[in-house]
Amino acid sequence: QELYDGAEALDKARWALTYMERQGTEFIQVYNREVETFYQTREYIRSHLKEAIRNGWIQAYLQPQIRNITGEICSFEALARWIDPERGIISPGEFIPILEESRQIYLLDLEIVRQAAALLRKGLDKGREIPGISVNLSRIDFQACDIFEEIEAIRKEYRLGPEHLYLEITESALAAHPVQMKAVLNRFRAAGYEIWLDDFGSGYSSMSVLARVPIDIIKLDRSLFQNPYRDIDNFLIVDGLLDILHHFPVQIVAEGVEDETVAEHMRQHGCDMIQGFYYYRPMPMDEFQRLIAEQGEC
Ligand code: C2E
Ligand code: CA
Ligand code: CA
Repeated sequence: QELYDGAEALDKARWALTYMERQGTEFIQVYNREVETFYQTREYIRSHLKEAIRNGWIQAYLQPQIRNITGEICSFEALARWIDPERGIISPGEFIPILEESRQIYLLDLEIVRQAAALLRKGLDKGREIPGISVNLSRIDFQACDIFEEIEAIRKEYRLGPEHLYLEITESALAAHPVQMKAVLNRFRAAGYEIWLDDFGSGYSSMSVLARVPIDIIKLDRSLFQNPYRDIDNFLIVDGLLDILHHFPVQIVAEGVEDETVAEHMRQHGCDMIQGFYYYRPMPMDEFQRLIAEQGEC
């Protein structure tokens, strides 16, 4: 057992406490190897983001979204991966909260927007009809920079119309800063971008947000299709939500669909699009290019 002096012991106790709160599963946390590894990773991510962007370690993976009426791919979601030469693939679940905490997340988000824009431009140059790409924005992006101007600059640089880029924001972000975000979202909307509401039904959802902010598409959170919800009465909660949402002028995406039962149910119940492992997993650029080439159009 290592011995620490007073100040160091206090620091470590504080880290253990923060770690515990973040995990949200225990009431007691000893400062151990797990906590230490977590903080080392955090330090690494914080201090290497710019290098990671510069060196191409940050990559957009793409996951297709399927239009229910046609059964064809209608758009893609860009999902960030950190492919580290030493540490291997780091998942967004790990680096996103850390970059949000250090308020650097906008650098990563803009890099993903840039990669999506480059892909779209490439498709247009080949004379293809391209599907849109949705990108994820963090609530921090709205505070740490002028996210509207930053995205507009990238869009113009790649000579794209706003109709090719869809902006995903989570319901929890919107619930936390409704006034501040609404003003910026209105600017995006006025400039022709679509706004997609992510993770709907994940626990924060309130219908009032739909009345306050202009939303084009709602993505039903994948937790709605998993146990225990499905145990209650198969699709009781999802169907209830759909009933209400159908009164709003929005399209609906079912996210995280993993099997035929859910896919079929959502198709039958007026869901417009499906995204999930049942159809495709998020794929790296080269696989994406092959898929697009196979599909002929896009
Ligand atoms: P999200 O925006 O809700 O993205 C969907 C997540 O669900 C992705 O996880 C995707 O891989 C996963 N997924 C898709 N279909 C299925 C399925 O059928 N089953 C299961 N079990 N999972 C499925 P991923 O890529 O690990 O991303 C996790 C989260 O990290 C995202 O959730 C998003 O909130 C955040 N994120 C990812 N990329 C970015 C980014 O570029 N910027 C920001 N700000 N956040 C990002
Ligand atoms: Ca998303
Ligand atoms: Ca989601």
